[in-house]
This record gives sequence, C-alpha cells and structure tokens, in this order.
Amino acid sequence: MDYKDLANLIFPDAKEIKYYEEKYPRRELPEGAIVTRFAPSPTGFVHIGGIYQALIAKKLAKQTNGVFFLRIEDTDQKREVENGITGIVNSLVEYGIEQDEGMISENEGKGNYGPYKQSQRKEIYQAYAKYLIEQGKAYPCFCSPEEVDEIRAKQEAAKIRPGYYGVWAKCRNLTVEEMIEKIKAGEKYIVRFKSPGREDRKIKHKDAIKGNVDFPENDQDIVIIKADGLPTYHFAHAIDDHLMGTTHVIRGDEWLSSVPLHLQLFQELGFKAPKYCHIAPVMKNDNGNKRKLSKRKDPEAAVSYYSEVGIPKEAVKEYLLNIANSTFENWRRANKDKSIDEFELQLNKMSVSGALFDMVKLLDVSKIVISKMTAEEVYTNSLNWAKKYDDELAKILEENKEYALKVFGIERGNKKPRKDIAKWSDVKENISYMFKELFEKDNTKYPFQVINEKEDINKILDLYISKYYDENDDKQMWFDKIKELAGELGYAKEVKEFKANPEKYKAHVGDVSTVLRVILTKRTNTPDMYEIMQVLGKEEVIKRLQEGMKNGI
Ligand code: GLU
Repeated sequence: MDYKDLANLIFPDAKEIKYYEEKYPRRELPEGAIVTRFAPSPTGFVHIGGIYQALIAKKLAKQTNGVFFLRIEDTDQKREVENGITGIVNSLVEYGIEQDEGMISENEGKGNYGPYKQSQRKEIYQAYAKYLIEQGKAYPCFCSPEEVDEIRAKQEAAKIRPGYYGVWAKCRNLTVEEMIEKIKAGEKYIVRFKSPGREDRKIKHKDAIKGNVDFPENDQDIVIIKADGLPTYHFAHAIDDHLMGTTHVIRGDEWLSSVPLHLQLFQELGFKAPKYCHIAPVMKNDNGNKRKLSKRKDPEAAVSYYSEVGIPKEAVKEYLLNIANSTFENWRRANKDKSIDEFELQLNKMSVSGALFDMVKLLDVSKIVISKMTAEEVYTNSLNWAKKYDDELAKILEENKEYALKVFGIERGNKKPRKDIAKWSDVKENISYMFKELFEKDNTKYPFQVINEKEDINKILDLYISKYYDENDDKQMWFDKIKELAGELGYAKEVKEFKANPEKYKAHVGDVSTVLRVILTKRTNTPDMYEIMQVLGKEEVIKRLQEGMKNGI
C-alpha cells in the first residue's frame, strides 16, 4: 500500500492535475501586463475597503493592459447570505470597476479561467489535494475538533506555540496502512498539508507594498480540505491564483502573516508564486485614535452609505486614489481637468501603515467634483438620487426640468464654479428658495443682518421696486443701480468709503444687497444674486420683494 492507494481511496473520482493545467493554459499577455483579482466573500456587506482594493487592483491591471477578475470566495458557507454576489457585482458596476472576467451574477461567470466561484471548483481543489497526497505532501487527519481543541489547551497551559505541527501533529506520523484502515473503518477525517517547514528557519520576502519582511518558516500542518469537501482559504488561494494566472495578489494586510504558508504551498504544488501586494486597511481618526473603519461602528464603512447620502461615485473614487497614493494630490494639482483614469498608480507609493479616510476631506473632494459637472449632469444625478430618497424633490425636478437646469446653471461652467453641493442630499437645501412651492413653505424668519429695522428695509425695497429694478439690466447695470439706491438712502456706495468714515454712514452697499438677498432667498449666503434674480424672473422677484415688505419683520 502506498500514497497512491491512499489518494485513490480518498478522492477516487478526482482527475489528474494535468487535465487542469492544460485546460487553463498560461495567459498570453503583453510584456509587463499584470493580472489582478478582487476576491471577496459574499457576506452581504460591501465594505468601502473592498472597493478600495478592487479599484487599486483594476487600475493596476488596466494600466498595464492586463486582466482584472472577480472571484467569489464562498468556501465558508456559514457566512454566506442570499444575493451576496449580486451586491458585490452591482457595487463594482456602480463604481465603474467592472471585471474583465469573473462572476457576473449569483451563478454565472465570464472568461476562460472559471468557474470563478470557489464552491463550483470543488473537484479542482480535490484533484490538487489528491496530487499532494500521492506525493506524501498531504494526509488525512482523524483528529476530531474536540481533540484539536484539547491540543490547543495543552499548548496554552504549557505556554507554547499553538497549532497542529511537529510532535503535536498526531496524524502526520500514521502509516499509510493505518490511514487506509481508519478510512475503511468509516472514521471521519479532513485533509492536512504536511508542512516541510521549520520554525527556527527564517524566510525573507519582498512585498510590493510593505517592502522586505522576515518571517519564520511555516511549520503548521494546516487543513487544506475541510469535512464538507471544500478547501480552506489558503489552499484555494494557491490553486486559484495559479490556475487563473494572477501575477499580483492584491489583498488586505491581515494576510501578510500567511505569506510563509502560501509560499510553501506554491512551492510544494510546483507553482510559480505570484507577487504579493498587501494593502493596509482604510483607517479612521476616532478622537485621536487611528483605527480600522468598522462595519459595526461606522456607517461610512458600507458602500451603500455613499449612494444613500448621494456622494457621487466619481468623488469617492477620486478620494480613494488620493489616500492610496501620496503622489495623487500633486498630480491632481497639475492636471485639474484630467480623468482619474489617466493617473498612474504606483504600488511602491502606497501607504504602508494605513490610509486615513476622512469624511470631511471626501466631502471637499466631492464639492470640487460636483462643481465641474454641467447643469445637466447635476440635474440627472440629483433626480436619480431623489427618485430613491426624496419624492418631493424628485417631483419638483421632474416637473420643472427646464427651470431646474437654469437653477443648476447658476455660477456653473465658469472659471470659479459654485462649490456648495457636496452630496445629492444637499441639493434640496441648496436650491429650495429657487422653487416657489418650497420657498413658500420655508418658515424661517428673514435673517436680516446690519440693516434690520422695518422702516429701513421697507424704504430699500420700495425704492428698489419703484425706481431701480429692471429685469433687462446686465450685471454691471444691476449692480450700479444697487449702489445708486444705497447712495440715495444715505448708505455708503462703496465699502472702502464706509471703512474710511464709519461714523458718516449707517451701513454700506453690501448691507443693502444683503437686504435684497435675505428678502429674495431667506438666506445670507447664496450664489450670485444677479443670476438668481434672472432665473427667478420678474414676477417672482417683485412678488417676493412685496411680500417681504408686508411680512418681513
Ligand atoms: N476572501 C478573502 C477576503 O475576503 C480574500 C483575500 C484575498 O484577496 O486573497 O479576505
């Protein structure tokens, strides 16, 4: 009896690995092209850190004319939820991080290296496990979970390294005959890797992000095939990334310490190891403490949060690149109008210790991204958001498209466009005064500033309506007339003049404009008043001015 008999007994139907090696030939790619993947588990929650990893992986592949694929890692079936894959696929589509290959729905994939869902690859893993058993590099282990717990408890009590290794690895020294006998007697087992490593030897490894790292060799006989016949993460990683031709494994740095094991698996399987690129997690500053963005504590950890509050995906992506590469900021400064697709991401410029994700900065980026959009784009995005989250806004935008386009056109498309919208959920607040039905519902008191006496206000409004307001004026004339009005009522026509002789005047032209602004919008801060008045139109302007005279104070 030899290892071959043992292997045949365990996996009687498994194919020879030659079959798979031929079925999935090495990829023919241009020189320097890299193949990356995003390999999430379908747990039903898409973390912004996942989008960060996928964005980086896709960008690196695209930059080199390589391939980016989506592999679903569902070997831990306890953690699975219904429609988990759909959620992942939709997020990638939403963020424009589409996979060249891989899963495209719960059960379908595209590309020649599939299946791209691990639970559909059982026979492939088993073929490679069989191959290892045949060479004495893997073995069945009959220890029950309770026995494994006992071993661990003993190790802890004796303060020695926990795990299934060396003298603790009871089943590794069974003879082939003993193993076969136990299997034939119906004993339950799993399959373990027989590690050739020694803990007292070191390996040196160069990670593309973390740089040089030293580790002790792996000596753990880890489980490769579980009781349900599915592989563990480690084994599936080696088989899949080999067969799928991944050149760069871009993954979270919680896997960095598994590198010695993974390199050993590649070595024993006779595979060429990929390059490893371990990404530090997205961090948050929590009252001075830097910690990982947490699914439990931070709403912004969920990708769904960004669409709910309406932060455009372009802004999220721009910000993620910003924290991915320290060089991004300078690039953006020098290339204000370029698409982020033109930015060249560099692995050796990635943050080693953890990029800080700052909502305030993201919103600033978002304001700039939105400021560069056309009125039409702002309209469409706001409407799409409103259709899901704000019926009233959706209705107003739909019923007044032409007018809404004019509203969004205020201070847009010029050199210094308005930057008051950071997210689509801000839109209503920012434009409500431009819509009669919303303005009329607005019960805020007029927030008058320096000029706040009823008599003074009414004089300004009265004179403005009767003498100075003409909807046909151009901007210069419009402003000159407000100066004239100020002068006529004894206010300083220039701010300079007021500053030089404050005792001579009650207020200045700016304060007079503020009265008009407050009356017309119930705000002290708005985009350009001239444009606002043009868009509101004569009838509405006069109506608001008159209304203000009656009810203003
Ligand atoms: N399924 C693993 C995870 O979600 C993937 C790690 C990897 O990219 O290899 O952490």
